[in-house]
Amino acid sequence: MDPNHETLGEIPFEDIADLLRQNWINRPTDGLRVPVPFGRTVKIPYQGKEITVKYTKELKFIMRNGARCVKCGCKGARFKLLRNNNLVFGAKTTIRLALWTDDDRQLSIDHIKPRGHGGESSVNSNNIQVMCEPCNEEKGSKYVGV
Ligand SMILES: [Zn+2]
Repeated sequence: MDPNHETLGEIPFEDIADLLRQNWINRPTDGLRVPVPFGRTVKIPYQGKEITVKYTKELKFIMRNGARCVKCGCKGARFKLLRNNNLVFGAKTTIRLALWTDDDRQLSIDHIKPRGHGGESSVNSNNIQVMCEPCNEEKGSKYVGV
């Protein structure tokens, strides 16, 4: 685990999955409901309050694509609220969401063709799939494609 990130709490998957899948937020400037742009924030209920957290383009891709590993099929069960302790000056939101399974595997994105082999890294490309970290690491050590 990244030593710069501290886990503040957890939220069961079903508690906010629908909210995240909607991909809509109240725009702060005028309160209108607008699509969440990639890499922006989302407001979620947490411990009786509403908090604003980062909703990364990677997690959005995971939520749009079944929230399960394409290889072993493990499924997201809880979100962790991670605080970045390595602050960038001026950053407004320092807490982000990440998705984990019941047996403590983080779901992340995998580059089907690794970037080191020329694969595209954009979440809009066809080179991205959802994979848990153990599967990703296993695949990374075995990749022999061109
Ligand atoms: Zn897996």
